[in-house]
Amino acid sequence: MNAPEDNKTEIEPVIYSRNDHCLSRSNIDPDALKIMYRLIRHGYKAYLVGGGVRDLLLKKKPKDFDIATDATPRRIKNLFRNCRIIGRRFKLAHIYFRGNKIIEVSTFRDIDEPIDPNATEEDLKKKHNNTFGTAATDATRRDLTINGLFYDLSTFSIIDYVGGMEDHENQIIRIIGDPDVRFQEDPVRMIRAVRHAARAEFSIEAACWDSIQNNHDLIESASQVRIYEEVRKDLCSQAGLSITRLLAQSNLLQHLIPELLLNDSVLLKEGSYFAQVFTRIEESATAHEDFTITPVLGIMALFLSCYPESVEELHVYFEDREEISDHLSSCFIKLAVPRKERERIEDVLILWHRLKNMPVEKVKKTNLERRRCLPELSYLLRWLSDNPEEDELLSVVEKAIQRRASGSQQKRRRSSSNRSESNGRRGRKNTSNHQRGEDRRSRSRSKRKPSDSS
Ligand code: ATP
Ligand code: MG
Repeated sequence: MNAPEDNKTEIEPVIYSRNDHCLSRSNIDPDALKIMYRLIRHGYKAYLVGGGVRDLLLKKKPKDFDIATDATPRRIKNLFRNCRIIGRRFKLAHIYFRGNKIIEVSTFRDIDEPIDPNATEEDLKKKHNNTFGTAATDATRRDLTINGLFYDLSTFSIIDYVGGMEDHENQIIRIIGDPDVRFQEDPVRMIRAVRHAARAEFSIEAACWDSIQNNHDLIESASQVRIYEEVRKDLCSQAGLSITRLLAQSNLLQHLIPELLLNDSVLLKEGSYFAQVFTRIEESATAHEDFTITPVLGIMALFLSCYPESVEELHVYFEDREEISDHLSSCFIKLAVPRKERERIEDVLILWHRLKNMPVEKVKKTNLERRRCLPELSYLLRWLSDNPEEDELLSVVEKAIQRRASGSQQKRRRSSSNRSESNGRRGRKNTSNHQRGEDRRSRSRSKRKPSDSS
């Protein structure tokens, strides 16, 4: 492992001291603070990096808090018991906390070398495996200038190697380095540039925008799994609709969800029924509701059937479940939606179709609780409904979800009380075994006594 060298590059950062920025320690996750303090106490650098710094500067709640340090993964592991080293090509540390919280701590990375499409796994290992870098190289290999800022807890200052603070101030999305080169290295960065522009309502710097216009085809060569993950994140986000619109303008959407561009992109137009529904999805994301991609893609598939102007049009469109399945298999042709996810979407849409064609009184008598996809169905109904408070089917589905939750709570309570009862019995048994053992020992002691004294 190569230890980080500090003067590997000449770049001097601009330092923004505490009075020059609005980022406050009190908004940083306490576990992330603990990690940074411990690293600093042991003589290492420890910076909050990436989306954590960006979102705090934007006065938004960060999704996660990533840390970068000059400590090697092995040294990080020595400092934290709750740490696991992950990654094959480049190792980094995951530090685990209560409630399934994981904080990622990565050692400063070296400048990315251009990715050779013919490189074997072995070549890549040789090139990248654990070649650590400096704070400067780590910053310059990141994607956008606003994602390349470091918050230094030891001085409360922001360290800026890439001009991110100025771009933040001027509300500009700029790729670090030459956009053509950086997009060729990793075309997914084009999606990320569009995402952050739409999310922060920043404008994309001209050279970066032109480069996306020229290089959008490259996205076809990127990993399908990664693209699906990025698109999934976007569609479930607080700015799903504006990101999708900007992806359309940037020519990227034709490689991701081209179906949305059909019929003169009517679905994405201002004021369309689809736009209204998508806004409801964004509101759910803003309220941190815990939904998955299933109902989002389910809704999108419904709209791609007949481009409806109202929910009633949808209700009468599909004749039977076969029509739904056939239609679904023609949707998202460019997106690597996993098979299991497609099955889940199909289950939800088929159940939606069945229940919609049933009188509500009859729905009440069906044993809905057994259906696995109820939460997804309730989101789908809620987002589709212009008046969810009055939607009878939605209320029946929500009650079934509540019944199922209280049923499984009772089950859990019963099984835990059974467990404690049987522990109690075992405890009593243990006590009596213990007692019997004591009795035996004292009997044998008293038997031995005469010979001992002799
Ligand atoms: P989010 O709020 O979606 O998590 P994020 O910026 O934190 O946004 P992550 O995927 O968690 O996104 O990435 C963390 C950081 O890693 C980014 O802020 C950026 O600095 C860097 N990064 C992520 N993807 C790339 C990439 N493709 N190329 C270069 N740097 C990247
Ligand atoms: Mg992040």
